[in-house]
Amino acid sequence: MILMSNEMNFSPGLEGKVDITILDYLEKTEKKFGDKNAYQDDKKSIGFSELVRVGRSIGTYILKNIPMKSAIVVCMKKGVDSITAFWGTVYAGCFYVPIDVQMPLERVEMILKVLNPRMIICDKDGEALLRQIKEAKELVLFEDVSASMEDQAGLDSRRGCMKSTDLLYVLFTSGSTGVPKGVTISHSAVIDFTDWICQKYKMDENIKLCSQAPFYFDASVPDLFIPLKTGACLYIPPKSYYTFPKKILMYIQEKQINTLIWVPSALCNVIRARAFEVCVPDSIKLVIFCGEVMPCKYLNEWRRNVPDALYVNMYGPTEACYACTYYDVIREFRDDEVLPLGKECENSTVLVLGENGLCKTGEIGEICILGQCLSYGYYNAPEKSEKVFVQNPLNNEYAEFMYRTGDLGFVNENGELMYSGRADSQIKRLGHRIELGEIEHAAMTDSKISNCCCIYNEQNSDIIMIFCGEQSVEQLGMELGKKVPAYMMPSKYIKLANLPMNINGKTDRARLKKEYGG
Ligand code: AMP
Repeated sequence: MILMSNEMNFSPGLEGKVDITILDYLEKTEKKFGDKNAYQDDKKSIGFSELVRVGRSIGTYILKNIPMKSAIVVCMKKGVDSITAFWGTVYAGCFYVPIDVQMPLERVEMILKVLNPRMIICDKDGEALLRQIKEAKELVLFEDVSASMEDQAGLDSRRGCMKSTDLLYVLFTSGSTGVPKGVTISHSAVIDFTDWICQKYKMDENIKLCSQAPFYFDASVPDLFIPLKTGACLYIPPKSYYTFPKKILMYIQEKQINTLIWVPSALCNVIRARAFEVCVPDSIKLVIFCGEVMPCKYLNEWRRNVPDALYVNMYGPTEACYACTYYDVIREFRDDEVLPLGKECENSTVLVLGENGLCKTGEIGEICILGQCLSYGYYNAPEKSEKVFVQNPLNNEYAEFMYRTGDLGFVNENGELMYSGRADSQIKRLGHRIELGEIEHAAMTDSKISNCCCIYNEQNSDIIMIFCGEQSVEQLGMELGKKVPAYMMPSKYIKLANLPMNINGKTDRARLKKEYGG
């Protein structure tokens, strides 16, 4: 079944120019809005003019040292400076790769091995982390790179060679073989998506966004780019506010934020913490969520408390630049109903494929994505890319790239895509995409672990690690903490003499899930 989009066509924001990059958006917006705030964290804010000025300084520093199209890691605390560093790398014709300053060392090491970056821009926190890693070469401090004297000719020359098909960023997601996968995304994918979302939801300079997702996570993509296109402002509250949802609602009220682009877990936490009993912001007009299932019982609570907002369920993997389908919630849903994933966004085509090709209405198949929104594959990992970026099996005439999501779904009678779960052991926990295989792989590197399997309990977001070997539960927990980020840490450990096998001789995950998963 092919989903038919009911969107009208529209022209891109910078008519007539083929090779536009996000810098053209930034500079067009700067001409219009000058010193208006683009991004604001709890310590500082930056206007569009200053963003261009500092971005060009950073770009100058980079271009004097390394060639175009190089990978530049930005390992800084989430805030105004890290965003400025992103745009600085782009001014040098390079692409940025955000790394969290709290990521475990071993994971950072793996990422740096895959990436082999030409430069790492860090702040003091990032520097403290990276100094412990021998692969971390070419460290430069943000305060040094941002103080360079602008080289206009050098920047112009780089700019003249940039193409909209160039890479803009690489985001690392969880990988089932234990090594994180670097998803490559081009300027044109981001530009198409940004054009579409801004037009569809009539976004302009009056939009005020509240940043929830970390920048190494693709849920932050609209937050970062909408200001460049429209002159909107992104507010970045302290991370701790999300642990106390009442604080975040008060922050939204104080800043008069009108647009939330959050993962469902963050929205659900507001309800679980009964935060609306303390504050109901009167400014929220649009709530977009993406990245995991939004349970209707929590959505209904939001709708009861903030009835004037439009709620939108978006769907898509990092490999398709944030989202490839959307559903505007325009009717009532019972608490136990499932929200549709909806119709295609402007720059993507979605197919539901079964063993015999295109699935009929109501028939479950794998959700596959085609179009400009797609990644070019995983950075420096051709074998992994070949497994999921494949030729569209419905096209025998010419090469057409298609991404197999591993998500199962079907198209309902209204022509809307519906989600039916995953075909593999990838999970979503509090909005984070996790391959259980990555945690298992990390545990198996411990010589005292002979076998292990992770299962996931969706109800209470628990990852349960079942393992065999001589290692103690405490020690295993400590060892894992050095290898995987906090959001991947099991909440429970069960030690068994042996893991049960199924008839194919594989670990019987289904049995383990039945016995220990709920
Ligand atoms: P990520 O790459 O972190 O964005 O994760 C992508 C995966 O999240 C998809 O392949 C789906 O399994 C899941 N996902 C994304 N959006 C939704 C949604 N609206 N409803 C259900 N699952 C979703």
